Amino acid sequence: MSAPTMRGLVFERPGELRWRDVEAPELQGPAEALVRPLAVARCDLDAGILRGEAPFRGRALHWLRNRLPDRIGQQGIFRNAPFRGPFAFGHECVAEVLAVGSAVTGVAVGDRVVVPFQISCGACAACGAGLTSSCDAVPPRSMYGFGDLGGRSWGGVLADRVRVPFADAMLVKVPDHVGSEVVASLGDNVVDGYRTVAAPLAKHPGAAVLVVGGLAASVGLYAVASAVALGAARVDYLDIDAARLEVAVRLGANPVRTARAYPITVDASAHPGGLAKAVLATAPGGTCTSVGIYYTPRTPFPLLGAYGIGLTFVTGRVRSRAMLPEVLAMVAAGTLRPEEVTTRVADWEDAPRAFLDAGPKVVVVRD
Ligand SMILES: [Zn+2]
Ligand SMILES: [Zn+2]
Repeated sequence: MSAPTMRGLVFERPGELRWRDVEAPELQGPAEALVRPLAVARCDLDAGILRGEAPFRGRALHWLRNRLPDRIGQQGIFRNAPFRGPFAFGHECVAEVLAVGSAVTGVAVGDRVVVPFQISCGACAACGAGLTSSCDAVPPRSMYGFGDLGGRSWGGVLADRVRVPFADAMLVKVPDHVGSEVVASLGDNVVDGYRTVAAPLAKHPGAAVLVVGGLAASVGLYAVASAVALGAARVDYLDIDAARLEVAVRLGANPVRTARAYPITVDASAHPGGLAKAVLATAPGGTCTSVGIYYTPRTPFPLLGAYGIGLTFVTGRVRSRAMLPEVLAMVAAGTLRPEEVTTRVADWEDAPRAFLDAGPKVVVVRD
């Protein structure tokens, strides 16, 4: 008997996504759920992959391969020249629960849920410490929508079915009055923007914030929206892109050309020049968080300037599941409005074209 199939969106190569018949996942254990995505958002990293910018292309990949010890080169991120198609695409979604295993108690068939893009068990030491991006129960970097980057493929969310291996630990119910398209990006980019300012603003209540925008396009804008919602005295935004600037201003940010001495700075530029601007604009005792991914083997960092200022520098992958509930609560209360960052809402079927849109944030929806 052949395995059941479904329609799923496949990344073929930069600039090309295609609907294909792919194998449909099934429940594999009592703690699992199957969900049907209703709204999917394009992650900033998806946009980079579609533009052919991410990661480790050409000389940079060659450089890395020749310098990594085999035991690292053989596993994880470098193993299969990542982001070479075909692989099942998409990892930010709100979905409807289709089926649950016998041990699942937190969600039921028919519930609408945010699906965190990182796989986490909720029970290991890492998950217990809130490090849901580094769960011990699955291979490192286990995520939807990136092929077998982490060593095992979890499928993509632009599909009719997605398997959730730890349903109670991962899925978060969406309140009835919150639209699926509004919270489609909460499983990744919205929380990523939020975390750049939430902890620093808790440390420096009401402080002024600088966001340097760029290729982490929507994450930088969610950082702006979160800073405004969390009561920052002023949110300044430094960018050269007209579309992103327009959204930032609409969210309440002030566009700036030069910047210095902010207690809280955010680098969402994914560009060494932007990184340097954010670091050097941080005030003594302040915190600079960098969310853009730097694929170059060596990234210039103004360490002498940072030393002179005396600051805390934060980087690393978002812990999407751990911070999801507090962000969803803000959206449900109406204080954080992720939909203001969305520049295009398209029909599900149009995903192959809509995902190539140049704007900061695309969401596709279906009934
Ligand atoms: Zn992502
Ligand atoms: Zn875990």
